[in-house]
Amino acid sequence: MAIERIVIVGGGTAGWMAAAALSRLSDSRKVAITLIESEQIGTVGVGEATIPPMVEFNQLLGIDEREMMAATQATFKLGIQFANWGNLGESYLHPFGTYGYHIGGIAFHQVWHRARAEGDRRPLQVFNLETVAAHFGRFSRTQDYQRDDLPPMNYAYHIDATRYAAFLRGYSEKRGVVRREGKVVDTTLDGETGYVSSVTMDDGATVEGDLFIDCSGFRGLLIEQALETGYEDWRQYLPCDRAVALPCRREDGSPPPPFTKAIAHTAGWQWQVPLQHRNGNGHVYCSEYMSDEEAHDILVANMMGKPEAEPNFLRFVTGRRKKSWNRNVVALGLSSGFMEPLESTSIHLINSGINRLIAILSLDGVTQTQQDTFNRLTDKEYRRIRDFLVLHYNATTRDDSPFWDYVRTMDVPDTLTEKIELFKANGQIFREEDELFNETSWAAVMMGQGIAMGGHGPIAASMDLPDFRGELDEMERSIRYLVNHMPTHGDYLAKYCPAKAA
Ligand code: FAD
Repeated sequence: MAIERIVIVGGGTAGWMAAAALSRLSDSRKVAITLIESEQIGTVGVGEATIPPMVEFNQLLGIDEREMMAATQATFKLGIQFANWGNLGESYLHPFGTYGYHIGGIAFHQVWHRARAEGDRRPLQVFNLETVAAHFGRFSRTQDYQRDDLPPMNYAYHIDATRYAAFLRGYSEKRGVVRREGKVVDTTLDGETGYVSSVTMDDGATVEGDLFIDCSGFRGLLIEQALETGYEDWRQYLPCDRAVALPCRREDGSPPPPFTKAIAHTAGWQWQVPLQHRNGNGHVYCSEYMSDEEAHDILVANMMGKPEAEPNFLRFVTGRRKKSWNRNVVALGLSSGFMEPLESTSIHLINSGINRLIAILSLDGVTQTQQDTFNRLTDKEYRRIRDFLVLHYNATTRDDSPFWDYVRTMDVPDTLTEKIELFKANGQIFREEDELFNETSWAAVMMGQGIAMGGHGPIAASMDLPDFRGELDEMERSIRYLVNHMPTHGDYLAKYCPAKAA
């Protein structure tokens, strides 16, 4: 069946990202795109920290970065600082980019370990530009250097999610997307195929479509309520099931740091996301070990200022929809699954879902193989991210609460056990196919949480130390040079993308 009408149900971050990206398709092929959203229902209202592929998403749409950042009160992000995870009082940065670069065809941390074994005391962190810049609160974009021999700066954004959806709405409507306000109250399935043929709105109007994108949030209006696709529950690995979100002003007047903070507490963790005009805060917790009231009090006691809104309490079940694409419905965003925002992966999963959909979609009709491939790749992506998140909880020596006792001793997926065992043996990290997190990410979190490399591989062992010591010196020097010449993050924002006063 040819696809001439695409209906997106939901106008949160997922809905408007999908609309914006698909509106580029409709330029070349005559596809009508309708987006339905309900102001009365509203959006989830959180989701402010992103990861670097978001930069490419905006570039792909031809969005002006300065304009987008000013419109969304955005700041730059170079990584995530984790405090109290491996143990109380300890912290580390999981940076974007890579530690050093491959020398002799092997991952840099292998070479670093060899140098260390020979007495080089420099920490791994001095070989990562993003870590050093974050440490000094500095920032500059790669394009600003105007030199080819320096390492690139890898960054993402902290954004006001509501403003980002509004920004993309403007973009999409200019490109022909039709927005319909109102609630979907019913779904009609085709008697023969079981495909969704139309949705009915609360004013009685029906909206017909050939392909439906379910961006209706946790409720999964089409993918679950209409098609009963099923959900795989991952709470045995990631037991947190609640969150309370609460923005505040930075009352000490400090500039926004160029990184997200993730601070572990007794039954979960707290995020601090610095925007230009305020901080986003939230506490993710496990209801089996902590009450809503306690979670709220811990959050308020650990914010940089007084709350600026009423607390937004959220409930969720970590896991994923058994199929993200079922019949003629593709679920994106929270309707497709949810993993806590520990590594800011939800908006990324929307982004990669859209990329996959656009790559695989043929407007003349979709085959079963295309759908199956979409589902297989989506499943794999979710599972790899899940393992990475589980690592943060399991690799700990914390024993100060029943929650930490549970996560420290729980059974973890075999795929994660394999990763940890390989690293402990001789520091090997295999990036499986095109999994999201690279060797630096795995090494940063494993070492940051106290998993030591047991040694290095035979290639690093056979390398001639004087040959690569010069390269290490040069790497460290160029990173230091670059950071010394960067403005502070606050100054950079003020010049590059100042937002209007909120
Ligand atoms: P929603 O925002 O819930 O949007 C659903 C839309 O569907 C709304 O427009 C609603 O009106 C519409 N709708 C629903 N039912 C109907 C109906 N019957 N009729 C018409 N319209 C309807 N992600 C990150 O990447 N980084 C983060 O830092 C981050 N932090 C998070 C913190 C928490 C506590 C939670 C819960 C999530 C976080 N996320 C984060 C995830 C992120 O918020 C979501 O991925 C993102 O906002 C997308 O949400 P959505 O568009 O799928 O759903």
